[in-house]
Amino acid sequence: MIRNIQTIIPGIATSDGAGVKLRRSLGGQQQVRLDPFLMLDEFSSNDPNDYVAGFPAHPHRGFETVTYMLEGHMLHEDHLGNLGHLKTGGVQWMTAGRGIIHSEMPQQVSGAMRGFQLWINLPAAEKMKPAAYKDIQVEDIPQVILDNGGSVKVIAGSFEGDEKVIQGPIQGITTAPLFLDVHLPADTQFEHHISKEQNAFIYIYEGDLEVGSPMQVASKQAAIVLGDGDLLKVKAGSIGAQFIVLAALPLHEPIVQHGPFVMNTRAEIEQAIDDYQNNRFVIAQ
Ligand code: FE
Repeated sequence: MIRNIQTIIPGIATSDGAGVKLRRSLGGQQQVRLDPFLMLDEFSSNDPNDYVAGFPAHPHRGFETVTYMLEGHMLHEDHLGNLGHLKTGGVQWMTAGRGIIHSEMPQQVSGAMRGFQLWINLPAAEKMKPAAYKDIQVEDIPQVILDNGGSVKVIAGSFEGDEKVIQGPIQGITTAPLFLDVHLPADTQFEHHISKEQNAFIYIYEGDLEVGSPMQVASKQAAIVLGDGDLLKVKAGSIGAQFIVLAALPLHEPIVQHGPFVMNTRAEIEQAIDDYQNNRFVIAQ
């Protein structure tokens, strides 16, 4: 069964960190999420004033943050001593778990900075696990070339190529996330199986795309939430299309969010604030 468009969540212009301009679709309001996805930001600018201030040191607890750089160079540093250069085509997958304090600062003062930050919730049983950080360079992300001339980068989960299943570098996460970056030439089609148990959405960042059966034109710069089914079917328009595909198993657990802390109860949020204010993120790992 082909998945049709269920809801469109437009990316709304906002800013975060020390004034980085971005478009937030999922998470723009706290009730607008797609379990287990909490938030999606797209940042895209050629104007350094929109990004140079970066994201100075700030905490997270209770979920995972995923940054995918389409273009640009940022430096990640955290209180555990991890240091990672996030460059064009690279991915940073950070499990905040019980707590991490990190910064993400641009390493450029001109040119384009472009990419996505995604927040994926952790199940209650894993919210207090130790923080972890993984840096994936562009050469470690498999790219499948399609018969129609398009391409698929497999960041998380797997993609069935012509002869074999291609596994992305991120595996073994409880919600089994799929994260693909798909590029299609003009007027070509693309299909991908997404199990019916998973919640799924796409986000078009270049070109035009039609989705589903019958085909419907999908908005750019918006989270296109897909309805029930087990097959994503899309067709690129006259200038081709570039889009990301995200899917994962929902948690069906209560969410209480306070900024960068996402827990299940108000008491756990108060504990997170208290732990952070009393330096227990740093000393209790
Ligand atoms: Fe952060």
